[in-house]
Amino acid sequence: MSEIATPTRCTLCGRTFYGPAAGLGLELRAGEEAPPRMMHFVNELIKHIAAAHPAEFQLSMAKASELQGWMILSHFSSDDRRVTEQRDYFRWSIHQQTLNVRAQNLETRARQIATEFIQGQRAAELSERPDAARGAATVTVAADDEDAAHLTMLITDALEDLQQILEEPGRYQPADPEPIPKKGATPSVLPS
Ligand SMILES: [Zn+2]
Repeated sequence: MSEIATPTRCTLCGRTFYGPAAGLGLELRAGEEAPPRMMHFVNELIKHIAAAHPAEFQLSMAKASELQGWMILSHFSSDDRRVTEQRDYFRWSIHQQTLNVRAQNLETRARQIATEFIQGQRAAELSERPDAARGAATVTVAADDEDAAHLTMLITDALEDLQQILEEPGRYQPADPEPIPKKGATPSVLPS
């Protein structure tokens, strides 16, 4: 373990802070208490944002209240759809902000998978044949191959379905103060 503290830079103004040499306690698990030196360092960072970047600090506080709202509402069951929708909106909003990465180029990836699959399938068929074609030229799949196009479409659909389930893009409009249900869903009756 290095004795030299690793610098932590504010991305808003470039100011550098030096935390505990042992790092920020990334090995922490839920329920464990952070070491006092680490807490002290995080407090330094909080104080900096509050003093030097009040707008960002305000936003952090507003976003923190979403997490608090979701956690509190998760302890209630209700037949009131407004309660369950509000809870779901908080959950969705937190989820959108903490997604590590969003899936991209699904169709390109689907085409690669489809092409490789069809290539393998045709090579296997070819190797079964007793004639001269066996073991001959490598199998290629043309860009306009109908089987590949069909399979690409199926895989793209499956990947897009998975993306919808995992990322939930557009379930609500984040800029709006109140949740807006996605197309086809029952309209929200949340008060403003
Ligand atoms: Zn700063």
